Formats: sequence, C-alpha cells, structure tokens
Amino acid sequence: MSRTDYTYKNESNAFICGKCGSGVFAAQSGTLNRNHCPECLWSRHVDLRTGDRMSVCRGMMEPIGIWVKGDGEWSLIHRCVKCGFIRANRIAGDDSHEELLKLAVKPAAMPPLPVNTGRGEEISYKHSGGAK
Ligand SMILES: [Zn+2]
Ligand SMILES: [Zn+2]
Repeated sequence: MSRTDYTYKNESNAFICGKCGSGVFAAQSGTLNRNHCPECLWSRHVDLRTGDRMSVCRGMMEPIGIWVKGDGEWSLIHRCVKCGFIRANRIAGDDSHEELLKLAVKPAAMPPLPVNTGRGEEISYKHSGGAK
C-alpha cells in the first residue's frame, strides 16, 4: 500500500487575486494564513473556519471595513459578494497601508446622510453654486 501524500498544504496558500490579478504568496512576513490580497485586500470565500479551505462558495470577498480590537490589533472585515458571509481576518505585515487606511476612514468620509426620502425619490446633494 503506497500512499499518495501530496503536500498541498503550503502550496494552497498561494493564489492569484481574483480582483486585481496580483500573485499572492504565502506568509512573507510571519502571517500564518495569507488569505487576502495585499494589494487590494480582497479575499476569497474558501474557508468555513480560518484555514480549513472547506467552503464550496468560492465567491470573492470584499473588504468592507477595519475592526480594531481592544489590544490595538487591526483586523479586516470581509464580506462575500456571493453569499453575504462576513468574516474578520487579521491583517498581514505586507498589506497595502494605503488600502487599509482608505478602508479605515471610509465611514468618516461617507456619513450616512439621508439620500433617500421615499420611494423613487432621490435627492442628490450637489453644490451647484448660485443655482436658484
Ligand atoms: Zn488583489
Ligand atoms: Zn460566500
């Protein structure tokens, strides 16, 4: 009896980002689970629990926010565009700081102003100077 024991474990950490096409490689800076793209921060719904690769969804997961834990550790909140699954992922040392900061300030830059007062009626807040 010979076993075909291919070591997929390490290789499965490498993938091509489905969003921006960057090659994403495993653990370059001490990250155990490199599960999102360091360039655009998008992830893919491949895990049911971190690292198990058991999900059959495979939808793209959009980074929708930053969660700062009590000890100051940053996590990324990902939401699957296909099934709506939401999960927090630890950020990695080589994640794009620019993208992380953009996500972090997004709620402040886009306050939930009332843009919709009723059905079919949309108010657009444009500063059209002088128009009466
Ligand atoms: Zn990417
Ligand atoms: Zn999904």
